[in-house]
Amino acid sequence: MEGMKGLITAGIDIGSTTSKAALWVDDHLGACSIGPSTTNPRATARECYEKVLQDAGIKAEEVACVFGTGYGRAKVSFADDNVSELSAHGKGARALLPSACTIIDIGGQDTKVILMDANGEILDFGMNDKCAAGTGRFLEFIARTLGVSVKDLAKLHAGGSYQPASLSSMCSVFIESEVINLVNEEVPLASIVQGMHQSVAIRVAALVKRLGLVEDVVITGGVAKNAGVVDELERKLGIRVKTFPDSIDPQMVGAIGAAVIARQKYLKRSDRQPGKQIKV
Ligand code: ADP
Repeated sequence: MEGMKGLITAGIDIGSTTSKAALWVDDHLGACSIGPSTTNPRATARECYEKVLQDAGIKAEEVACVFGTGYGRAKVSFADDNVSELSAHGKGARALLPSACTIIDIGGQDTKVILMDANGEILDFGMNDKCAAGTGRFLEFIARTLGVSVKDLAKLHAGGSYQPASLSSMCSVFIESEVINLVNEEVPLASIVQGMHQSVAIRVAALVKRLGLVEDVVITGGVAKNAGVVDELERKLGIRVKTFPDSIDPQMVGAIGAAVIARQKYLKRSDRQPGKQIKV
């Protein structure tokens, strides 16, 4: 890549499962990178940032401002500042889809629902962070039990007639035993996967309804890549859930939001200190 023109800011999202870096150039996504989170979030953040700079063909000096976000945001030692995941996901979703009012973020360890007003201010939010059920980690856990990859869940969901198996447990450990029983009873894999997606959607829809459903609803986070979960959520909410254009990875929305906030903070500071081109 040949470098970038415009005001470049960066967002680094250190999540429970994956670490992401995004470069925002004026009003669009310039580049992004993603890798697994590790037990050394400081080093992972730096590696992720170096990768995105390399992919974009630019040097760190060309980036006006860097913000961290996510579970490990305090470990992004080279960042100018950091923001909460709620602010980052809200801002990122709005920058990419200006009509978004309800943002559902399903990541590895928690599920967040963010309600925004027309000006992009956060009105309310709900989180499911005490229990694995209804999160990406739950889907990974059950996928492993079934001997499949999370990447294949959407295909399996769509690969049979629609007959979701009913899973009664509220706890992911008990759901695992239910799933093993269903496998032994030779229930089709498609039905089991549909049932598992339904159980995630029931929890997430309850969270959305508690806050009050305001359209447009958009889904972010790694689980947004699972069309089976999106399908079940639409059934449970009775509306269409908006998705981003194919060029935008929904897992990158937190990092993108942090980069957009970095831009806004940078411009605000530069306004107060005309001509000053240093970081905030
Ligand atoms: P965090 O920010 O907490 O690290 P992410 O937003 O990166 O979480 O989401 C991680 C989750 O996304 C994984 O647990 C997995 O369930 C899901 N996931 C990631 N990639 C895919 C994919 N290609 N298809 C379906 N699900 C995916």
